[in-house]
Amino acid sequence: MSNNPGIVLGCHLSAAKGFAAMGRTATSIGANTFAFFTRNPRGGNAKAIDKEDVAKLQAHMDANGFGKLVAHAPYTLNLCSAKPDVVDFARRAMAEDLQRMELLPHNYYNFHPGSHVGQGADAGIDLICAGLDQAYEPGMKTTVLLETMAGKGSEVGRTFEELARIMERCRCGNMLGVCLDTCHVWDGGYDIRENLEEVLSEFDRIIGLERLKALHLNDSKNPRGSHKDRHEKIGKGHLGIQAFEQVVCNPKLCDLPMILETPNELDGYAAEIDLLRRLHQEGVR
Ligand code: FE
Ligand code: FE
Ligand code: ZN
Repeated sequence: MSNNPGIVLGCHLSAAKGFAAMGRTATSIGANTFAFFTRNPRGGNAKAIDKEDVAKLQAHMDANGFGKLVAHAPYTLNLCSAKPDVVDFARRAMAEDLQRMELLPHNYYNFHPGSHVGQGADAGIDLICAGLDQAYEPGMKTTVLLETMAGKGSEVGRTFEELARIMERCRCGNMLGVCLDTCHVWDGGYDIRENLEEVLSEFDRIIGLERLKALHLNDSKNPRGSHKDRHEKIGKGHLGIQAFEQVVCNPKLCDLPMILETPNELDGYAAEIDLLRRLHQEGVR
């Protein structure tokens, strides 16, 4: 018997009913973390924050042993667009989101590095760094996470090398971490199904495992290296259940918050959370 407290696991939740409601929903499906969009994913303005609602969520998290939350920037936010107005919106939205995250200190804010749309990865990385340095204010209590990408179109962040370059070139680089999305790295070409330990060693060599702060758990509808980014339910895709068993039992990974972004309703998420918790328990016993 082990005395491990179990894994920190949750899924993406709708923010429509506010913060406290997300905390209650998470608990009702067996989750002890969750992800949410900081604003409408299609862009636009963020709703004013109800501080009382945030305080209720914080109390709920403290009472129920939650791990860190993994907020998600809208996926339309592109810091390295070729269009100045798109870049400008992305910078302002991110700055505002990070200011709002200060109301929920010591959690994570995850974003897609962006698509360079033909400008080249190097120019894209320079724009991403300029944007991050403009949005992030020294002393902020949120760790900003770069998400590993599938390499669809001109996405920046498919390789560990690109993510490392962003972290090296930003003035705020030491405040950045990485969120590893299992579907994205698989679609990007990394064989986490057959060679998880090798991929983690490569991550450690290029980025440093201490920078890995969160996981997105998604199976993939496509074979490795497809660059498609189509999520599948856990165990129903090309990664398969054994890949996830390895992930939730891996001592380098099992203390990180894990977020499901699989095509599910709440009951489907509850079942996946239960399955992954059991795999973890059995694997580490
Ligand atoms: Fe994402
Ligand atoms: Fe993801
Ligand atoms: Zn994805």
